[in-house]
Amino acid sequence: MSEPVLEQRSPFLRAGDARATEGRLETIIHRDATAALVVSMDGVIRHANPSAERLFGRRGEDLIGRACGVPLHGANTPEIDIRRPDGDVAVAELFSLETVWSGETVFLISLRDITSRARAEEALRESEERYALAARAANDGLFDWDVSTSRVYYSPRWKTMLGYDESDIGESPEEWFSRVHPEDLDRVRGAVTAHIDGLTSHFENEYRIRHKTGSWRWVLCRGLAVRDPLGRATRMAGSQSDVTHRKLAEEQLAHRAFYDPLTNLPNRALFIDRLRHAMRRAQRRKDYQFAVLFLDIDRFKTVNDSLGHMAGDRLLVMVARRLELSLRPGDSVARLGGDEFTVLLEDIRDLDDATRVADRIQRELVAPFDINAHEIFSSASIGIAQSSTGYENPEDILRDADTAMYRAKAAGRARHALFDTSMHERAVALLNLEADLRRAVERNELAVYYQPIVALDTGRISGVEALVRWNHPQRGLISPNEFIPLAEETGLIVPIGKFVLAESCRHVRGWRDEIGFSSPFALHVNLSGRQFSQADLVGQIRATLDETGLEPGDLRLEITESVVMERPENARAMLLQLCDLGVRLSIDDFGTGYSSLAYLQRFPIDTLKIDRSFVSGIGAQGENSQIARTIIDIGHNLGMVVVAEGVETLDQLAQLRALRCESAQGYLFSKPIDVDTTRALLRAAPSW
Ligand code: C2E
Ligand code: MG
Ligand code: MG
Repeated sequence: MSEPVLEQRSPFLRAGDARATEGRLETIIHRDATAALVVSMDGVIRHANPSAERLFGRRGEDLIGRACGVPLHGANTPEIDIRRPDGDVAVAELFSLETVWSGETVFLISLRDITSRARAEEALRESEERYALAARAANDGLFDWDVSTSRVYYSPRWKTMLGYDESDIGESPEEWFSRVHPEDLDRVRGAVTAHIDGLTSHFENEYRIRHKTGSWRWVLCRGLAVRDPLGRATRMAGSQSDVTHRKLAEEQLAHRAFYDPLTNLPNRALFIDRLRHAMRRAQRRKDYQFAVLFLDIDRFKTVNDSLGHMAGDRLLVMVARRLELSLRPGDSVARLGGDEFTVLLEDIRDLDDATRVADRIQRELVAPFDINAHEIFSSASIGIAQSSTGYENPEDILRDADTAMYRAKAAGRARHALFDTSMHERAVALLNLEADLRRAVERNELAVYYQPIVALDTGRISGVEALVRWNHPQRGLISPNEFIPLAEETGLIVPIGKFVLAESCRHVRGWRDEIGFSSPFALHVNLSGRQFSQADLVGQIRATLDETGLEPGDLRLEITESVVMERPENARAMLLQLCDLGVRLSIDDFGTGYSSLAYLQRFPIDTLKIDRSFVSGIGAQGENSQIARTIIDIGHNLGMVVVAEGVETLDQLAQLRALRCESAQGYLFSKPIDVDTTRALLRAAPSW
């Protein structure tokens, strides 16, 4: 007898008990799916079916007559190894049955090929062992769920992770699932089922689970099913790790990405997102309208500059809280940055709803804010844009609300303005103008014009006012009223101002040398607010005087009332320094702003210019003469010289003379003229 083909694999033998009838036996033997052998009582193979030939890797003739190799008497060997001629080892489950075949008592042996399952289990055992080691090192809790018995082994660490002792938690799956957060439960069950059903390669899920203390812990749970040859899950084992710290950190990061850390309001990104949703809703539902409010705190910079950033921050937080108070629950308020806030009003009926909210916000902001024992009064300028304008993207509606906000500010702050499309065109035009203006400075498109100022007692030209002009290559001469405010806003006023000052000082110095007039001459140069607040203004002016050689006494700087009155103490210090240079100072457009006479008295100012609007009212009937008289008297009482602006008629001239106004300028004498014309005019002037 050659070597046996079967070897005993498992030491455990089970007693066989059944006897089969011949008919049933035939079907077993010939059924192709199961490998079957007929073995005589002395252990010699007598018959093999085709499946057996495949399992053994041998032809039937090769098997018949061989020893079976496994003791078969009254016993079953569950698992056996089969050595194939090619060296491979197959694994099979063996069942033996004592029965009668062709009149002889034999063993009927059926063999089920479980090679692949056995290999998989072996691999799993190995990997599980490795995994268990790693898991212990990583402080994971482990579970092992027997699907058929529905019992779960929870490791001690699994239990302590949730605050429990070994004996507190039983073996049911509910010990696990009943503790999962209700909001996460469906998701977790779904993922487990999907894996058990073989739809996913592994189970992995992050969810909240209740700790013994009642708090929620975030865990990461991983699992892998063990399957039978039919792919049915028999077990699922895996790990549970506490990821609460990581999860909280992630939440904080996410929060930071969408909320402003100072006020805790949504930030720009979140606001844009909500706006986008509102826009989609508006596209779907014809009756749905929304509006965006763009708020800017008036004079926020003043608070920041005078009381410090901490106070500024406090103010922003307090404003944020009041904004929240003035809104309905569905509306959202966000901080875009700086002192800018936005509000999204959802589902409004009409524009009136939006303006009503704007009014309510204004009212809410009226009460003073108590900051570091200071009572701060605040207000906001609000721009409103509405959905019915038909926007395509959120940035556009924000931009338009912003534009309307600027309109509200320009109209005098503490009010709201509605966006209309003309504003947009204006905003675009302004942008183009800004780009052009930048180039204008570089390309010398700017020029200084001069308007003569006439002494009323002698009729002589006592000075000129330098007025800047922009020679735009396409648009021709542009009025400073059009570009000076823009230059102020963009900071371009600084280079423009330097240019005007240097150019005009040079011109006047030149005329003096050329024409040789020896009497006093006043060159009036306008200084805007932004120029006035430059830290090195005094140094700049001194340098220009040095470079051009102009006598400081020839220069008279014009500043408007509002510029000096905004921060009177700072202004006073600046004016005193300028005065020390020998430069003289003049208040421009007097009467149009708010001036405190008490302050004016303390300022080293020697000229007052009456605004054109008062001069134009002076007539033979004397309607406005009274105001002009009052202003001239104020100037004289403060020891100042008075210049009237915008004199256009002889009548006005006569009245001003009668009121003892010292000087005047206006179209009656001359419009502003270019440098050559001015030189010619001065040269021809009769009595220097
Ligand atoms: P302003 O300083 O009050 O200048 C007087 C303005 O009144 C000038 O307008 C002048 O042309 C105009 N004007 C003079 N006489 C008459 C008159 O009889 N009738 C009428 N209707 N108008 C008269 P302009 O040149 O357009 O300047 C406008 C404003 O722009 C100036 O007002 C000043 O505030 C500003 N500005 C002009 N040049 C400069 C500059 O170089 N720097 C700064 N910062 N501002 C400037
Ligand atoms: Mg002026
Ligand atoms: Mg003026």
